[in-house]
Amino acid sequence: MEVLYNSTRNNGIRVRASEAILKGISEDGGLFVPDHVPALDKSLKELAGMTYQEVAYEVMKLYLTDFTEEELKNCIGRAYDSKFDTESIAPLVSADKAYYLELFHGATIAFKDMALSILPHLMTTAAKKNNVTNEIVILTATSGDTGKAALAGFAGVEGTRIIVFYPKNGVSPIQEKQMVTQKGDNTYVVGIHGNFDDAQTGVKCIFADKELAKRMDGQGYQFSSANSINIGRLVPQIVYYVYAYATLLAEEKITEGEKINVVVPTGNFGNILAAFYAKNMGLPIDKLICASNDNKVLYDFFRTGVYDRNREFVLTSSPSMDILISSNLERLIYKIAESDGDKTAQLMKALGGDGKYEITEPMRALLADFYGNYASEQETAATIKALYEETGYVIDTHTAVAACVYGKYKEETKDETPTVIASTASPFKFTRSVMNAIDEKYDRMSDFELVDELSALANVAVPEAIEEIKSAPVIHDYICDKEAMQKTVEEFLKLK
Ligand SMILES: *Cc1c(COP(=O)(O)O)cnc(C)c1O
Repeated sequence: MEVLYNSTRNNGIRVRASEAILKGISEDGGLFVPDHVPALDKSLKELAGMTYQEVAYEVMKLYLTDFTEEELKNCIGRAYDSKFDTESIAPLVSADKAYYLELFHGATIAFKDMALSILPHLMTTAAKKNNVTNEIVILTATSGDTGKAALAGFAGVEGTRIIVFYPKNGVSPIQEKQMVTQKGDNTYVVGIHGNFDDAQTGVKCIFADKELAKRMDGQGYQFSSANSINIGRLVPQIVYYVYAYATLLAEEKITEGEKINVVVPTGNFGNILAAFYAKNMGLPIDKLICASNDNKVLYDFFRTGVYDRNREFVLTSSPSMDILISSNLERLIYKIAESDGDKTAQLMKALGGDGKYEITEPMRALLADFYGNYASEQETAATIKALYEETGYVIDTHTAVAACVYGKYKEETKDETPTVIASTASPFKFTRSVMNAIDEKYDRMSDFELVDELSALANVAVPEAIEEIKSAPVIHDYICDKEAMQKTVEEFLKLK
């Protein structure tokens, strides 16, 4: 059955999957959601015998119903290839009575690669299907991780260009080095004099400029966005939960139909929402455990039913989760509002105005599958150290937030259900915080010395992504004022 996508703020808007991917966000500001969640049409046993790519096809075909088999398999084949440093793409590692689903084996050693390695192919395929002949120009503002993952995904993809803006003094040295050394004739990286909000606001202004869009169209270009609310990022993320279950079944760690819990270190709520969709497709998931850092808006939301962003923004050692507005939560709100677009629009309007909203009791009752908690900075560091000392396994700071919250959950509930923890970044991406958690003596060493120390300590080879930037030449050194972002884009595209 065909899946159509409607807006979370207006059930009347309905588009096909390829159109939803091209548009990114609905005109009314809502997010695209499937009009029904399709059920898995292969048995868990059948899935247990499949490769990652095969599972990806079985899951994605159910959502992207206007893509042909050939188109979809082509996208999957181009995405999940030797860019990943392991054939299994998403290996499952057992440590301390939990299974760590390592989602960091792609080009930029963080989980965003799982979706951003396929999005460019879904997008160019979608463009062809909709007779779009314009070149697609991806504009992104980044605080570090997304920018590099998007650059790596779109680099060299025909029919696309990507322009990334980052705050010149607002990303880590390693993150900056990763971006400015990006190869590919279709990639542009610009540091701006300003912070991340300035970069984000600038990009939004450019997107909203109708006159510019018209001029672009006249010269064969159109903008699109690669951010995490695109359905083309959400759907590929459902795959690895199904794959994790299939792996556990194939390895006889669970029996067919046995339930598992899933723990997800959460920021924008995309990753855990994908697990929720997997559950709704019939994957035997019991609890969805939502782990936050000190920016614990979601913990408070699950506890009280009030979402309130009016609080201090805390900088933590898990920066990819330093978020006060979890955009993808809107899709869950829509679901528990029983698909009422008007009600969802009202709540989101309140969030945009007062910065908060409260859900009703019947809505709260529909959140019973979720458990929320958070880990402080100290608890996160202690979790890394304890796991390393007990097992020798080293996890990054984001994954440690999840592991810590899982510990709290188990203590509270005594629930012994087999559990998968989403491991969202390689410890090599956050080497300093990880090594300092293990022993403060490392604080004196340089970043690259620490990389070698970590490699020895964890008995894991230094990932290619880190080796590469040690010696890679700087390719992008463009810097502009925050007011000049649009002019910069026009120059890159040689717009008249
Ligand atoms: C983006 C990111 C997260 C948060 O994922 P969401 O889908 O935004 O909730 C967690 N960990 C890492 C390492 C990330 O890059």
